[in-house]
Amino acid sequence: MNRLKFLEDEIKILKDENRFIKLHILESEQAPVAVIDGKKVINLTSNNYLNMTTHPAVKKAAADAVLKYGIGTAAVRTIIGTMSLHEQLEKRLAEFKGTEAALVIQSGFTSNTAVCQSLMTSLDDVLISDELNHASIVDGGRLSKAVKKIYRHCDMKHLEEILKSPEVKKARRRMVVTDGVFSMDGDIAPLPQIVDLCEKYDAVIMVDDAHSSGVLGRQGRGTVDHFNLKGRVDIQIGTLSKAFGTIGGYVAGSQNLRDYMISTARPFLFSSSHPPSVIATCLAGLDVIYNEPQRLEKLWTNTKFFKEEITKAGFDINKSQTPITPVMIRDTKKAFEFSARLFDEGVFALAIGFPTVQKGLERLRNIVTAGHEIKELEASVAAYKKVGKAMGII
Ligand SMILES: *Cc1c(COP(=O)(O)O)cnc(C)c1O
Repeated sequence: MNRLKFLEDEIKILKDENRFIKLHILESEQAPVAVIDGKKVINLTSNNYLNMTTHPAVKKAAADAVLKYGIGTAAVRTIIGTMSLHEQLEKRLAEFKGTEAALVIQSGFTSNTAVCQSLMTSLDDVLISDELNHASIVDGGRLSKAVKKIYRHCDMKHLEEILKSPEVKKARRRMVVTDGVFSMDGDIAPLPQIVDLCEKYDAVIMVDDAHSSGVLGRQGRGTVDHFNLKGRVDIQIGTLSKAFGTIGGYVAGSQNLRDYMISTARPFLFSSSHPPSVIATCLAGLDVIYNEPQRLEKLWTNTKFFKEEITKAGFDINKSQTPITPVMIRDTKKAFEFSARLFDEGVFALAIGFPTVQKGLERLRNIVTAGHEIKELEASVAAYKKVGKAMGII
């Protein structure tokens, strides 16, 4: 009996198309220099922007919470899975984001799917999305009942054309969704222009700040703060799994948005809540964000240094404006080979190919963190140069 025999063919297809993923194994803490696949390497792959994963005070907060509150809630939020800690974190996240309220949901991914599904409930609604938005927004669109419209990446003319089309104008609800910082290219959405258009055409605006929270704006409050748009963006999504270094997501906006989501968001209703240790980690993480501004400064010093040096070496970093720094290779095979050779030189940067990015836009994706030392970044650039020259890329 082998009813899953068809998987052999499917796996073969994945392998032929370079889409078969083998897991890399981290054998140390998630740190700027880490043991990956048995080798100690400079780690340019995590979303650990503020180097929070190993912060002693944050680790202690998690351990203390286990001793005081136990290991979990064993319930969904709406039954008996809401501890005072959860409410406390939501109040503080709202303050961080400059909104009336916030609601913590299992992950950034499910925060996006939850909002799209809860708010866009009819064929008379239209969900308008940037073509390079995160997969969770795409899936949110699939779970919603709305008609979907996709605009070319950051193309405001195209967005306006869609907003003023008769079909969209007569819709019951319109919602425009964009990543704040795009996760593969590291470019920043033109949020002021998007906000202007949403105000002009009466559309709800939702921004996914997964890669901007802890990174952009005062104290890393995100793109709304970065662009000074307080009070003009209806829904801000954040994640607790990148700069905060743990797990979870949240929706920040009005009190009504929070109240409505509590009663309708399916991941919130039907999947259990975060253990107290995770919530305590996030509370301690917020203290770090407020009390240790040098982390954010170091993140940007490192980012500028790495970008300048890698560009000087002759590599193309495309449109990146943030710590996410793609090094364009523009060929799948070469991208994977480059990554493997870098690893031999003691640097880990992941190759990204189709379908995560378009064909012809294959790259190595680097994320610099506040934890990297300049000498580690110098060594990384030296390795890039060595491999780049050997492969005829620079
Ligand atoms: C990582 C990411 C998410 C998912 O967040 P998780 O908390 O990891 O589920 C959502 N949106 C964007 C833009 C992301 O980069």
